Amino acid sequence: MCSSNAPSIVWFRKDLRLDDNPAFTEAVTKGPVIPLFLWSPNEEDFSTGGASRIWLYHSLLSLKKQLAVLGLNLIIRKGNSVDNLFDIVDYTNAKAVYTNKRYEPSSLKKDKEIANKLKEIGLEYKTFNGNLIIDPKVVLNKSNLPFKVFSHFWKKCLSVANPTEPLPVPNKIISFKNKIKSIEISDLNLGQDKHWALKISKNWDFNYGFSRKKLISFIDNNFNEYCDNRNFPGKDGTSKLSPYLHYGQISPNQIFYELSKSKNENWKESQYLAEIGWREFGYYLMFHFPKTINEPLRNEFKKFPWIENDFLFDSWKNGTTGYPLVDAGMRELWETGWMHNRVRMVVASFLVKHLLIDWKKGADWFWDTLVDADLASNTLGWQWSAGCGADAAPYFRIFNPTTQAEKFDGNGDYIRRWVPELKNMEAPKIFEPHKYKGDLFLKNSYSDPIVDHAESRKKALLAYDIIKK
Ligand SMILES: Cc1cc2nc3c(=O)[nH]c(=O)nc-3n(C[C@H](O)[C@H](O)[C@H](O)COP(=O)(O)OP(=O)(O)OC[C@H]3O[C@@H](n4cnc5c(N)ncnc54)[C@H](O)[C@@H]3O)c2cc1C
Repeated sequence: MCSSNAPSIVWFRKDLRLDDNPAFTEAVTKGPVIPLFLWSPNEEDFSTGGASRIWLYHSLLSLKKQLAVLGLNLIIRKGNSVDNLFDIVDYTNAKAVYTNKRYEPSSLKKDKEIANKLKEIGLEYKTFNGNLIIDPKVVLNKSNLPFKVFSHFWKKCLSVANPTEPLPVPNKIISFKNKIKSIEISDLNLGQDKHWALKISKNWDFNYGFSRKKLISFIDNNFNEYCDNRNFPGKDGTSKLSPYLHYGQISPNQIFYELSKSKNENWKESQYLAEIGWREFGYYLMFHFPKTINEPLRNEFKKFPWIENDFLFDSWKNGTTGYPLVDAGMRELWETGWMHNRVRMVVASFLVKHLLIDWKKGADWFWDTLVDADLASNTLGWQWSAGCGADAAPYFRIFNPTTQAEKFDGNGDYIRRWVPELKNMEAPKIFEPHKYKGDLFLKNSYSDPIVDHAESRKKALLAYDIIKK
């Protein structure tokens, strides 16, 4: 039997914030609170990638600091999540566990297991929607089936979802006085001190509250030009909020709400909100079609004749394909843990269509190197690029990486920034540097194209013919 003074556990997962956090808000109304973070990467569908671990390290530090301001100590454990959770429940006589929903297949399974086990011993396990605008369960078409076309999905979402005023950081908090066994964030060995981690971290601001400031500044200064600028990687035209959204340092509802309060009359039809909608669509597809984290949504792609070629794959990873826009993107990724969306589409298309390498291999590399690595959005992005997902780019539409560069990096600024070998080359030469080998400054420092565009296009279409039959 629990006393009324028994504590509630708030299990922080992909919701590392104190405002607009329904699980945290609910817990503090019920008495003493124990904030908990459990590190169990082996229980995930895919063990957390390197860049994502670096982000996690910093976001946990800032959450811990912010909780301390409220007089709360973040309890951290690693290992089996069920064992750890029940150990803390036993030790503290906790009466309830609150958390915000996750939608990855492994998390949904674990949630069920935990809910059942807690129920057996008379404890409440309540999950809240804190990470999406709309719960994937509630959006269905007229036949009660999930949508597979984004525009139909999003139209339905917008007809039923309304932004709600974000919950404030609770101020009347009772902490749990007894000491609970916990480890330090540094004991999680998230690789934060490695050279690569230090390099990536320099590009980001992890201070608590930064993401909200960034959002407001984006709405004030960039929102109106988003449509015009968002495809140009050399411009600062997008919000760069993806890693903050992934770890829940900002909620999509906060974005939805701030847009609704902005002076822009067309905020609801805006391209920016539609991009938040694509994030929702990724989660929606993962929820309704969980097998897609491992296999293509479109079955015919299971027999696609992907090839294995270490040289081609390594050239792609290292940014030495001889296609300047592809190489710039892959190097931006390695240097910063992030890549512009237009360039993500170009490099993904290049891998699956020019090199005929399985999208899963590309998705794995992104998983390890993106600070915003997100199972729903990454699966969506790769299956979209490979043409094997819902509402995807048709396989036969093959991006030409050279004309993409001409169109979206017209003066070559983005390429020059990330490919130093080409820093003295002007447009249009910079789009096809192998044709200007005679230029003194180029010497042999930049690779020739590893494949020929026209030939690769032909091969890709032939491969596609096989699965169409
Ligand atoms: C092959 C491939 C892989 C991708 N992998 C990921 C990933 O692992 N994690 C991830 O967050 N995004 C992924 N994306 C989507 C997209 O590239 C990023 O969300 C975007 O570049 C993040 O930059 P931003 O915050 O400045 O976006 P903005 O343009 O400012 O958009 C605002 C927010 O909307 C969401 N968003 C924007 N575009 C998309 C999109 N196409 N799909 C889903 N959500 C979107 C993001 O949460 C983003 O932060 C991938 C795209 C491709 C083509």
